[in-house]
Amino acid sequence: MICTMRVLERILLPPFGRPVAAVLVPMWVPMLVMVATTSAIAAPARTPGAVISAPPKAIEPLTPMSLCDQLSHRLPNVSRTVCARAQLAPGAAVSVQGRPLLQRDVSAVSSRLRVLVLGGIHGDELSSTALVLHWIGAAMETPSNIHWRFVPLMNPDGMLLDKPTRTNARGVDLNRNFPTPGWDKEAPAYWSKRTRSDPRRYPGPKPLSEPESRWLHDEMERWKPDLIVSVHAPYGVLDFDGPTVAPQRLGRLYLDQVGIFPGSLGNYGGVHKKVPVVTIELPSALRTPQEAEIRQMWLDLLRWTAERLGAG
Ligand SMILES: [Zn+2]
Repeated sequence: MICTMRVLERILLPPFGRPVAAVLVPMWVPMLVMVATTSAIAAPARTPGAVISAPPKAIEPLTPMSLCDQLSHRLPNVSRTVCARAQLAPGAAVSVQGRPLLQRDVSAVSSRLRVLVLGGIHGDELSSTALVLHWIGAAMETPSNIHWRFVPLMNPDGMLLDKPTRTNARGVDLNRNFPTPGWDKEAPAYWSKRTRSDPRRYPGPKPLSEPESRWLHDEMERWKPDLIVSVHAPYGVLDFDGPTVAPQRLGRLYLDQVGIFPGSLGNYGGVHKKVPVVTIELPSALRTPQEAEIRQMWLDLLRWTAERLGAG
């Protein structure tokens, strides 16, 4: 039995990651033993070499248009027009399964500040990607001296599954995978003690083990954003980490600094690298705010950026 568990862990580990394998294996082994026993009694012997499992599903290449087709079907409040208008283009980075991280820059000649806006780090927070797509339209309509870089879908492998997952394709919570000081001790300890090894919050085998978090880390080094806005759901608050005075509200979301986690982007960017990080927690992962509220949040973000960072 133990030997079977080891073999299964080895099979399950690459696609699912250690936490998922650790959960699945103890469940599956008794089931497999039961099935094997039952079929030995009831069914004729299986042809040697017969394929038991279905081949893995091929991943379609992700182009901006195919992404809009997929997103307009699954995201709340995002028509194909809203997505197409965003004019996403592949950047240099790709996900674990080879999907490009699509992005869009909106800037003017006079742009002085760089602001990076991220959605969908957690693949099951569909409203976060929807909000960023709407904000690309808002940025095109509201001139400012900000160079915006939007990446609406940081975890495409998780979000484009039939049943979207918080984690990426290797079962890693990308928002726990950033190299905060003491990560090697703190992140695994926090995961095992505070989350009771919740597979949805697995921080990964080491900091920046994932291509998606690695890209964001490198992008912060290369592009040096003055501000990062990271959109999540569903806690309905505004969080902030960084050296400046926090925004008190964006639309109906009020500031509520919930603390810091080992390996999170707010901790790494705001506390460690001193780049302000506004974390938006929308009230629902499956519904976006109303259009007027999306607009008000955008205007409040612009106003705070002008007051605190000198954009205007
Ligand atoms: Zn989240």
